[in-house]
Amino acid sequence: MADIKEREESKKFRAMGDRDYMRDFVGGRQVDDCESCGFALRREPDHGTEEDGSLSGIYCSVCYQNGAFVHDASDVNDFLTKAAPDIAKYRGGSVGKIKLTLKKDLKKVPRWSGA
Ligand SMILES: [Zn+2]
Repeated sequence: MADIKEREESKKFRAMGDRDYMRDFVGGRQVDDCESCGFALRREPDHGTEEDGSLSGIYCSVCYQNGAFVHDASDVNDFLTKAAPDIAKYRGGSVGKIKLTLKKDLKKVPRWSGA
C-alpha cells in the first residue's frame, strides 16, 4: 500500500515540476523593448541584426543593422531628428507624433538614460 502511495506522490511531484517548468518557459517569452528607441520587439523582423546576421536581442531593426547603430547620434534630440522618420516609416504614424512619444519614453531607454 505504502509503495503505491509513494509512487503516486512522486508522480504528482513530477507533474508539478512540469507545470513550473512550463510557467517559467512561458514567462521567459516576454516582449523586450529596443534599448535604443524603446519600441517593443514583437516579431522576428522587429529585431536588428548583428554583424554575423543573427538577430539582436536588445535592438530593433530600425536602430541596429549589421552590428552597428543605423543612426549615429550624440544625444536624444539628435537621435530623434535622424531616427524618427525611419521609425515612423516602419511603425506607421506621423514623424511629429513619434518624436513626441519618444521624447518621453527615451529617458527610460538604456542607450539614453545614462545608465
Ligand atoms: Zn530601436
